[in-house]
Amino acid sequence: MTGIVIIGSGLSGYLLVKEIRSLTDVPITLITQNEGDYYTKPALSHLIRHNKSPQSMIMKYASEMAKELNVRILTHQQVVDIDVNAQTVFSDQGEVVSYTKLVFAIGARPNFPAKIQYQGRRPLVINQIEDWEKLGGSLDHSSSLAVLGAGLVGTEFVYDISGKKSLDWVFSEPWPLARFVPYQVGQWLKTNLKAFGVRPIQGLIQSIAHDGKFTVKVSDQSYQYDEILQALGLIPCIELAKKMGIDCGQGICVDRYMRTNQPNVFAMGDCAELQGVVLQYVAPIRIQAKALASTLCDQPSAVSYPAMMCTVKTPLVPVAFCVPPYTKGVWQIQACKDSGVKAYLYSNEQRVGFAVCGSYAKERANLIREMPDFLH
Ligand SMILES: Cc1cc2nc3c(=O)[nH]c(=O)nc-3n(C[C@H](O)[C@H](O)[C@H](O)COP(=O)(O)OP(=O)(O)OC[C@H]3O[C@@H](n4cnc5c(N)ncnc54)[C@H](O)[C@@H]3O)c2cc1C
Repeated sequence: MTGIVIIGSGLSGYLLVKEIRSLTDVPITLITQNEGDYYTKPALSHLIRHNKSPQSMIMKYASEMAKELNVRILTHQQVVDIDVNAQTVFSDQGEVVSYTKLVFAIGARPNFPAKIQYQGRRPLVINQIEDWEKLGGSLDHSSSLAVLGAGLVGTEFVYDISGKKSLDWVFSEPWPLARFVPYQVGQWLKTNLKAFGVRPIQGLIQSIAHDGKFTVKVSDQSYQYDEILQALGLIPCIELAKKMGIDCGQGICVDRYMRTNQPNVFAMGDCAELQGVVLQYVAPIRIQAKALASTLCDQPSAVSYPAMMCTVKTPLVPVAFCVPPYTKGVWQIQACKDSGVKAYLYSNEQRVGFAVCGSYAKERANLIREMPDFLH
């Protein structure tokens, strides 16, 4: 059976199937190396505070999705090779599947920076539901705990765990969320998280060694922990695409139709790089899925992005921001108080983004309406 073949059963894979199904009943095969169950990954970083199990996140099992969306789903099959001339993919379990159109929706994997020296067991990382299951109760049983990283995911895990136990927050960024918000907002967040039993440790993470306990060396100081949760970014999975001769930068390079440089091969989601930018969050994935579904159904549709906002899942210390990925800007602080901070990002004297926290966070819904499109 030929038709559209999608590799990956994350939000990208499933949102794309749903969009295609709203247009046509073309045969679709979805191949995934995991269980293939449908869940929304963002919920991974607020399970602890809500006393939820990873299983409770599953909205539908793969078999239910297959039936509901009339799609063939091959689970526990890692795609290991692709013949672009014969338009065929090969899995590690011996499945051979032909395609008329192929979509990479293979996501990204946790980063273990080369600058950090690792020794012994590696810290825990959480990027999929199976990672939580592997974790078992190890976080519950740890009396000393650290989260590494102050990006979006690290910050959310710090908040989530801090509702239950005290912990160290170790990061090399100059301030929390430094890629997205100005110093004053990062500082406000850091200060307010201390009230939840979080001890921030800022410095260069040099090494992480495990020998019964973890020893983390940060700017020449050593700290010991029973357990560490590491969130040092996600690297798009590009190896398979590279092997096929597809242009890759940080991610799998696509044009505004999500086309790679190989005929009939597309990419979307956390693995894709559009005009030099990889966007690893849900809002762009929804837009890509809609446009790509139309393109795959022979009605080419280019991706355009409106201004998109990120609300950090730290509701008791609220932070939201909108930072355009294709425009450089300069932050200007509008207000900075103990109760919160409000800042605008300017480019060529035009307001192109914002960051708000605390008492100013409630302005976010109005602010996002004033922002120019990211990509039109
Ligand atoms: C803890 C956490 C919290 C987050 N919170 C938010 C949030 O609040 N808001 C927000 O907008 N975004 C959030 N994100 C980001 C968002 O969840 C991701 O951008 C999105 O889920 C990525 O979906 P994806 O389908 O592109 O990739 P993935 O979900 O990584 O899916 C990739 C799929 O490809 C499969 N695969 C990979 N290689 C192969 C292969 N060779 N063969 C077969 N299958 C393969 C995998 O098994 C998987 O099924 C969060 C991310 C994390 C980790």
